[in-house]
Amino acid sequence: MCVPQSFWLDPFPLTLCPASMGFSDIVGHERCIEVLRRAIAAERVPQAYLFCGPNNIGKTLVATTFAKAVNCAAPHEGSELPDACGACPSCTKVNAGAHPDVTIVGPVTQLRSGEQSDGTEMYVEGTMIRTEQVGNLIASAHLTPVEARRKVYIIQHAEAMNEASANRLLKTLEEPPGITTFVLTTPSPSQLLPTIQSRCQWLRFGPVPAPVAAERLQAELPELPGDVISAAVGLSDGRFGWAKTVLSHPPLLEIRDAVLETALSLPSLELIQALWCAERLIDAAERWWITVAGEEVGAEALRRHRDRVLRAQVGELLSVLLSWFRDLALASAGPDAGELVNADRADGLRAAAAGVDPAAAHEACQVIGDSRRFIQIGNANLRLALEVMFIKLIRGSR
Ligand SMILES: [Zn+2]
Repeated sequence: MCVPQSFWLDPFPLTLCPASMGFSDIVGHERCIEVLRRAIAAERVPQAYLFCGPNNIGKTLVATTFAKAVNCAAPHEGSELPDACGACPSCTKVNAGAHPDVTIVGPVTQLRSGEQSDGTEMYVEGTMIRTEQVGNLIASAHLTPVEARRKVYIIQHAEAMNEASANRLLKTLEEPPGITTFVLTTPSPSQLLPTIQSRCQWLRFGPVPAPVAAERLQAELPELPGDVISAAVGLSDGRFGWAKTVLSHPPLLEIRDAVLETALSLPSLELIQALWCAERLIDAAERWWITVAGEEVGAEALRRHRDRVLRAQVGELLSVLLSWFRDLALASAGPDAGELVNADRADGLRAAAAGVDPAAAHEACQVIGDSRRFIQIGNANLRLALEVMFIKLIRGSR
């Protein structure tokens, strides 16, 4: 997509998004997209949007596509409502992250590794947007566009602005420069100043429905079995890009299988082996990250921000583990209790569920959910929190 060499820890590089994308290529978010296309068609584009929704749901993808569509040289090629053609000079520049009038800022930290001192950037949870980023953005917003019909500023994780930056942005929104649109994206709108919230038109981004995601993925990856696709979609919580990345990287599927193997082995383990399980999960989280971010940049990120990187990735793997116990609870309640997320493991799940008390499986879900929360939000020691979790899970599986 439009920010080459940028990596976001939660959890996938933006560069994985196809560059030529227009609105009609995006899976899901139909209502938000229609609002945007109608605003462009009517030439009534507001000065500021607030895109709310979970991380990695597609907010930045839609924002960038909006920036392309509003400036595209051929916005009606093959569609009645405006879209990005993806191929004109303007769209090409946005795709390359090189459009002088389309800017993305976010809470990134510079990452320089050995040979790779090229300004590679990454997002680490808890990082703030730097004051000078917002300052530069506001200064440039008042300048005439270099070539665009409308300047677009996308502020990712807008909740990560400090108070001074937020106030400066508010002033700009109160006296907006002409032909400029700000798109603020955030998973937590309530953390923004109420005065900023009220200056923006809100668009809420929800999960992509599973059947829609599965159908599209099956068309794009016809070589993969349907039950593997269903499993990735089920694990993605409606994040289409996440599911696609997992399916496109066979090592990620292997790591997920290894996590499920650990879950399957729990009833036969001694309590002391909880330590081994924790170690194994942390190793898996490290491999997951390296696969997603790439060997060189991934290793550098781990060197600099090991704990924060691993917390984010462990969170993903705990979701995998949670899905197993949810499935176990369903399978133990009878054959018609509901659809299994890990559909490709249905036989193993049903066999494992034969001796399982549904209440114990529910209890395990609770334990994993609590641990995930402690690890991601709190300051719990990562290894210790995982060891305690596995002790509870081994004890509960007997
Ligand atoms: Zn175009």
